[in-house]
Amino acid sequence: METMSAGGIRHGWCHNEPMANSVNPALPPLDPLTLDEAMAAALEQGALAALAGDVPVGAVVLDEQGRLIGAGRNLRERDGDPLAHAEVEAMRAAARTRGDWNLEGCTLVVTLEPCPMCAGACLQTRIGRIVFGAWDAKLGACGSVWDLPRDPHVGHEPQVFGGVREEECARVLTDFFRTRRA
Ligand SMILES: [Zn+2]
Repeated sequence: METMSAGGIRHGWCHNEPMANSVNPALPPLDPLTLDEAMAAALEQGALAALAGDVPVGAVVLDEQGRLIGAGRNLRERDGDPLAHAEVEAMRAAARTRGDWNLEGCTLVVTLEPCPMCAGACLQTRIGRIVFGAWDAKLGACGSVWDLPRDPHVGHEPQVFGGVREEECARVLTDFFRTRRA
């Protein structure tokens, strides 16, 4: 098992390198540069969410070649939809693009660690890889509070990699809540 880091968050949960996956051959290696650019696109989605008064969380989905095939942002306030999280929106968009619900060769890139609902959605889509920016010590379900992708009851184990552009992703959220309180 992993060791606990400062703050009690299991950063060691990022047990897989994002570059290769021997467990899922459908999942190709992805260049760190590609992931960096994808996170930039996810951050842009988050900025759009904030314009509508929504908590700035954004997500994109990359296909096997690293092409962006879906994007989404938190739409809870805008649409009055409690389930309209960025990850769900992005994976729905990706499935529409492919004409296939199965996203096993794809990578979800999201600015914040997925919540239990979104981690569950990742299992439903069989997404191959989850990459996130900031850790969520309150509601994170990819290693912080729960370990849904690695739950032994689940037959599918996506590769998980957290902390990509972590400070930037966390700062966007901190700034948003600070502005709202002011
Ligand atoms: Zn969520």
